[in-house]
Amino acid sequence: MTGWLVIAGLGPGAGALVTPEVSAALAEATDVVGYIPYVARVAPRAGLTLHPSDNRVELDRAAHALRMAADGRRVVVVSSGDPGVFAMASAVFEALEAGPSDWQALDIRVLPGITAMLAAAAAAGAPLGHDFCAINLSDNLKPFALVERRLRLAAEADLAMAFYNPRSKSRPHQFARVLGILRESCGPDRLITFARAVSTPDQRLLTVTLAESTEDMADMRTVVIVGNSATRRVGRWVYTPRSA
Ligand code: SAH
Repeated sequence: MTGWLVIAGLGPGAGALVTPEVSAALAEATDVVGYIPYVARVAPRAGLTLHPSDNRVELDRAAHALRMAADGRRVVVVSSGDPGVFAMASAVFEALEAGPSDWQALDIRVLPGITAMLAAAAAAGAPLGHDFCAINLSDNLKPFALVERRLRLAAEADLAMAFYNPRSKSRPHQFARVLGILRESCGPDRLITFARAVSTPDQRLLTVTLAESTEDMADMRTVVIVGNSATRRVGRWVYTPRSA
């Protein structure tokens, strides 16, 4: 048996947003590896072993997946959204770099998925319709000072911004600090969209100004989009013109 390793994105939640090539890889897999809630989105079947694991064990999980592929198994590592956006693809390449060099000959493919910010932007209109950046607000793997620096520079560059992992129980107050920096750098009238559980039955969209925004508008299932200085409302939508 020839093993392979696919690192796949499951999209933001809706089954219709899983790409056909990801579904095809899952149909051929012998093993699925990933964070518990993402593995739960894969239908069990005969011949498929599910390996759910806890958060924050990304490197162990990646090495486990590589070992199984090297043993001849057909392994899919699942992430939500896109696997290259604050997710497992980089963790797999880190494990590949640290592992035995013969792993580098393995058949490894990264299959893209629809990332949360794009699903959220589509639901809201087109707030990311011109230049933008994406920032992970979690300081699990980097100092919060770096987050602050990137926020200020993105605001100075007048980029629209998408924020992942805005708020968690382990760091409840940092998001208030983020909103403070944004008010300071972008002014009180800038539009901010809170998009929660996009494409699932729990989806909730809320657009307010920075002055009206409060930290409890975000949780770990929310992606936050801040417009640039030209982002505006039309009817019930929010968009950024292509000229700004
Ligand atoms: N790889 C994923 C991101 C993983 S980080 C992707 O490309 O989407 C986890 C963060 O993604 C969450 O804290 C939240 O900010 C965002 N997220 C994931 N799914 C989401 C959804 N359906 N709706 C809103 N935000 C989501």
